[in-house]
Amino acid sequence: MKYAKYYESEGKTRWAVLEGERLYPLKGLPYDLPEKDGTSLLLKDVKLACPADATKIVAVGRNYYEHVMEFHNEVPKEPMLFFKPTTALLDPDSTLEKPAFTNRFDYEGEIAVVFKKKAKNVRKEEALDYILGYTCLNDITARDIQLSDDQWTRGKGLDGSAPVGPFVADGLPHDGIGIKTYLNGELRQDGNTSMMMWDIPSVIAYVTTYFTMLPGDILTCGTPVNVGPMVPGDVVEVVGEGIGTLRTVIR
Ligand code: MG
Repeated sequence: MKYAKYYESEGKTRWAVLEGERLYPLKGLPYDLPEKDGTSLLLKDVKLACPADATKIVAVGRNYYEHVMEFHNEVPKEPMLFFKPTTALLDPDSTLEKPAFTNRFDYEGEIAVVFKKKAKNVRKEEALDYILGYTCLNDITARDIQLSDDQWTRGKGLDGSAPVGPFVADGLPHDGIGIKTYLNGELRQDGNTSMMMWDIPSVIAYVTTYFTMLPGDILTCGTPVNVGPMVPGDVVEVVGEGIGTLRTVIR
């Protein structure tokens, strides 16, 4: 099943399920038992919103060995966590302005999960029962600022620095989801969740030791090797296998 969130009208969103090229609006939220309202509309006729209802975005840094090596960092002994604020969320197919204060504005294509129920102290064996499914997230980073600060708050917390979507897909193999990033149509990152040092159930267990994840919260699981900069005019696409293409235009 694929879930989407779309704008019914200015500022008002609604959840739906995607079947083929049509969206079937849901009566409520998708976290319980989603019930269709009996109507449908064409995907091409709507503007999509971030498919989540996040109170927080928890992110894992340095979860792919080759990406750790590209910055000559030490391999972390435990998952390295940071937050992105909800003001970082950006809808699919949006335009994002590169702030003038950064000279290195990087893409990081990632697979993220969206929680469907309250999760605290979750065991690894049960972790997948707590998620609605998988989506794409671009962990946009002001690399120069990140590297100049001890904390990553400024470098990774910028407004609009977390495009998410376009859909949430369930039923995918957590340890076999391909993740590719294209810059202006050229392949730049080519990874798979099978290459993560801590797999998705392990990360969920670790994160929920410290934080309660709520329905609609997002956990993004790290980026593979070959991150790189974006400049105004660039189009960046994060493609999650079995999920879809998350497109952002830089201005
Ligand atoms: Mg990242």
